[in-house]
Amino acid sequence: MQLDLLAIAAHPDDVELACAGTMLMAKRAGKRTGIVDLTKGELSTRGTLESRRRETEAASKILKLDYRANLDMTDGNIERSQDNVRQVIVQLRKTRPTILLAPSPQERHPDHEAAAELAHRAAFYSGLIKMETKDANGTPQEPYRPLLVLHYMQAYSFEPKIIVDITPVFEERMNAMEAYGSQFFSGKPEKMTILAQPGFIDGLRARAEHYGMMIGTRYAEPFWSHEVLGTKDLFSIVTKTIA
Ligand SMILES: [Zn+2]
Repeated sequence: MQLDLLAIAAHPDDVELACAGTMLMAKRAGKRTGIVDLTKGELSTRGTLESRRRETEAASKILKLDYRANLDMTDGNIERSQDNVRQVIVQLRKTRPTILLAPSPQERHPDHEAAAELAHRAAFYSGLIKMETKDANGTPQEPYRPLLVLHYMQAYSFEPKIIVDITPVFEERMNAMEAYGSQFFSGKPEKMTILAQPGFIDGLRARAEHYGMMIGTRYAEPFWSHEVLGTKDLFSIVTKTIA
């Protein structure tokens, strides 16, 4: 398998909330995309494991994903262990993405930070020939390293290294997120969370508009990277249509 874009997330719905527009823009450009969720989100205040599984399936369809896996690590305690790094390496070597998306290294939810660290470590060690792993059939895997790792924005904001215009897919992007209906405000009195508070979805729309405004488009998603980013095409970075 060869994916162009793979996103790693601590919980199912993290990618849909943070960077579903970028995933859809990649599909629109004919790229192959995938998501690896590290946990099933079993500690979620709202919804059941079964309802969340159905929601994930619906969101995956809207995102037109070529690949989605769940590594069934422990929600609320994603260990930064060598065993978990290896599990992520197995996924990177299986899917061989050009670009890897991961949570931001500084995040409110400790699981997001743990997922960011596992992705960072796995992206490096995956390229080492002497770091031996086997696929599900017991066949030794070839080393592989993604060419670029970008970190998406969740609870904490950062100064973006790059902002991706998602205007053409914005409504689809909101649909993918809203597939996780159990997590959002329903108008009924029930267990309250940040996601379920009235106005949360409006806030995400406002964030997309905020970053869109910074690059002269209607909606956009911000990313951070440890690395400096380059381009082979200077004109591809012009997003404004009015100066
Ligand atoms: Zn999460």
